[in-house]
Amino acid sequence: MSPFTFTIDAECPDSWARAGTISTPHGTIATPIFMPVGTQATVKSVSPEELREAGAQIILANTYHLMLRPGSALIAEFGGLHSFSHWDGPILTDSGGFQVFSLGHLRKLSEDGADFTSHLDGSPHMLTPESVMQIESELGADIILPLDICAAYPCSSQEAKAAMERTHRWAERALIEKEKYRPEQTLFGIVQGAFEPELRQESARFTANLPVPGLSIGGLSVGEPKAMMWEMLRYVTPELPRDKPRHLLGVGSPEDLVAGVGLGMDMFDCVLPTRVARHGGLFTRAGRVNIKSARFRSEHGPIEEGCDCYTCRNYSAAYVHHLLRAEEHLYYRLGSIHNIRFMLRLAGELRAAIIAGNYSAFRDEFLARYAPAPEQVREEQREKWRAARLR
Ligand SMILES: [Zn+2]
Repeated sequence: MSPFTFTIDAECPDSWARAGTISTPHGTIATPIFMPVGTQATVKSVSPEELREAGAQIILANTYHLMLRPGSALIAEFGGLHSFSHWDGPILTDSGGFQVFSLGHLRKLSEDGADFTSHLDGSPHMLTPESVMQIESELGADIILPLDICAAYPCSSQEAKAAMERTHRWAERALIEKEKYRPEQTLFGIVQGAFEPELRQESARFTANLPVPGLSIGGLSVGEPKAMMWEMLRYVTPELPRDKPRHLLGVGSPEDLVAGVGLGMDMFDCVLPTRVARHGGLFTRAGRVNIKSARFRSEHGPIEEGCDCYTCRNYSAAYVHHLLRAEEHLYYRLGSIHNIRFMLRLAGELRAAIIAGNYSAFRDEFLARYAPAPEQVREEQREKWRAARLR
């Protein structure tokens, strides 16, 4: 029996939303699903037990960060990421490509792979489609991604085409190389094509025809307007096979989750929920609030009335507000738990709405109530984080 299966449990009659079940060697995942990101083999400030309690079913870890520190060979010595980090559920690792292009200091990009220097100590490294398969086999995740090229936004049509074609050639090389390693790991394909509708369609068709059990949509949410991202999915989704799960790479704010499901996406990952939590941004059904704000100073109720997370069940908003004002460590844990639970409860509600046949009504009602951060604020935050990471 294949270590990886995907079955569709329900489909929405008037959108592309579907509810499904993914099975992996480390457990099953009910979709649509949000995957918390554990960049350094830890979802920042939250333990695996707390993740479980918040409803996490699968988490993501970053190959780029882990290959540089502590190194994939060391993690392999400990039996892989599952036992090293004490998370025994499904794990997905990315290829490291995105971080090489955005974080590392890329030296040379060639048909072979990407030469770069570490953002930690300036040491030289190279990622190739083949070396990424080896590294990911040492990390031991259930779902792994091949090295791809995420074109910058904006970029020329020629650059977009070249990046897409190389991504396709690298996917074929990764598939051959993967044969050498662990059959229980599942390699997804990655759709690229930047913001060119024809390229997106071509990439979707090419990747769908590879012998891969799942597909990730890459190269979106890289600074383009939201409307442009959704437009690209309208071209991509119809080209994808119905029976393979679809992962929207690096996308996962509450409003993105709700809208992305309707465009046929099953899996979402993003650092945003935990990152904004650490800066005081907490999710509620009415939108993101800043817990630092004076209006919470003497708020006896929880962050959000009715929230079933550990934080809201046990602490007043005033206490959480105080912890952040005092920069107490406990704040980062309590704030992160609330946002992770919010995302996972939302994914569960989306699934229930699809099964009940009322996804579209759920989406419209959610989006009418939820006030997202304005694009201007989002862009400023992105810039700040980028600068902080490079320091
Ligand atoms: Zn809560």
